[in-house]
Amino acid sequence: MLYNDVSVNERGHLTFAGYDTVELAEKYGTPLYIMNEDKIRARVREYKNAMQDYFPSGSVPEFASKAFCCKQIYRIMAEEEIDIDVVSPGEIYTAASAGFPMEKSFFHGNNKTDGDIAFAIDNKVGCFVVDNLDELKALDKIAGQKGIKQKILLRVTPGIDPHTHKKISTGSVESKFGIAIETGQALEAVYEALDCKNILLCGYHCHIGSQIFESEPFGTASEIMLEFIKDTADKTGFVPEMLNLGGGFGVRYTENDPEIDYRKRICEVGEILNRQCEKLGIAVPKILMEPGRSLVADAGMTLYTVGSVKEIRGYKNYVSIDGGMTDNPRYTLYESPYTVVLASRANEKADFTATLAGRCCESGDLIGENFELPKPVRGEILAVLTTGAYNYSMASNYNRIGRPPVVMLNSKKDYIAVERESFEDMCRLDK
Ligand SMILES: *Cc1c(COP(=O)(O)O)cnc(C)c1O
Repeated sequence: MLYNDVSVNERGHLTFAGYDTVELAEKYGTPLYIMNEDKIRARVREYKNAMQDYFPSGSVPEFASKAFCCKQIYRIMAEEEIDIDVVSPGEIYTAASAGFPMEKSFFHGNNKTDGDIAFAIDNKVGCFVVDNLDELKALDKIAGQKGIKQKILLRVTPGIDPHTHKKISTGSVESKFGIAIETGQALEAVYEALDCKNILLCGYHCHIGSQIFESEPFGTASEIMLEFIKDTADKTGFVPEMLNLGGGFGVRYTENDPEIDYRKRICEVGEILNRQCEKLGIAVPKILMEPGRSLVADAGMTLYTVGSVKEIRGYKNYVSIDGGMTDNPRYTLYESPYTVVLASRANEKADFTATLAGRCCESGDLIGENFELPKPVRGEILAVLTTGAYNYSMASNYNRIGRPPVVMLNSKKDYIAVERESFEDMCRLDK
């Protein structure tokens, strides 16, 4: 199987983290998100330890919580003692309600409203990642009104293309995020930030994109960022304490994706940082990284019940499931590939080619095409792997379909982290 926590038991059922997925589907109903909590914790520690070993002391990962946001994940990250990224007042509220220590949060976003800024300051967000000059001025003003000096990183665009999907590539000069180095505007922003009375500039941030398998794009970004650091230090005298290299390490969604050794990749980035800093004659700053999907994606799986199986003779086959774009919009958005397993008969020969269709009134509501499965029968359980990131957090109520619950699995127990959304929940705000 794709991962070592996925297997098949003596009943021919797919297992995940040692649990029989067909039994979980019976116990909690479908559609159902299940997550291997132990795997999330192990991956967090892998990042944390590698960053401590290969980067200067104080370097830590931040969980990019847009990948998977609910109270329980913030408690897990708090227990593992790593930082978090938040991108909206809703994420701030969720993290704060879960008791996350907010001084360890970084607030992102290309359009923080005055209300968002005030809310974040009131909730003691540790550091703003300032995206543009309008935000810088608004933040300086609001921080002044509240009588604080706010720590910030400036988000700059290193101007590189990591060869990933256009919608998840964010590091180029033309990106909607950040301030360009190439045009000289990033340097101007540093002067402005240093002039702001109520702002404490701590360093720089860049994020080049997602689903990156090699360390090379991070190496290139690091080289450009360090040159920028050297250049601005020469001109302004400002030496940053931190450099945030963003998130984006890839995840294995199918057999075609390589297995990725995050520790090794971090080691390689460390070597590039050391070499470049030596060449420029500067100290290596504290390094931050913001993994989202690589902390949670392969720790998640979605279970569905098969409904109709439609064979259009001479054309194609559809297998319909009791969920779809409402719980997993990623194929509709980016044509993201997935691995699908018939959980009820996971040992049987996969000799039926099918398109996996959701239940929404939309032809584009697909989980993917050309999957090879044993021919499923109505009522059987089907699993879509690697759905721990950007699934629950991107879920919607289109067609008034409730969001599935999230069940966590660990070596001791299975438990509900998020309840199934009921009809009453969906009507709660209707007058
Ligand atoms: C989305 C995002 C991340 C996380 O990206 P992943 O591919 O999930 O690791 C990190 N930082 C920023 C600024 C982002 O926008």
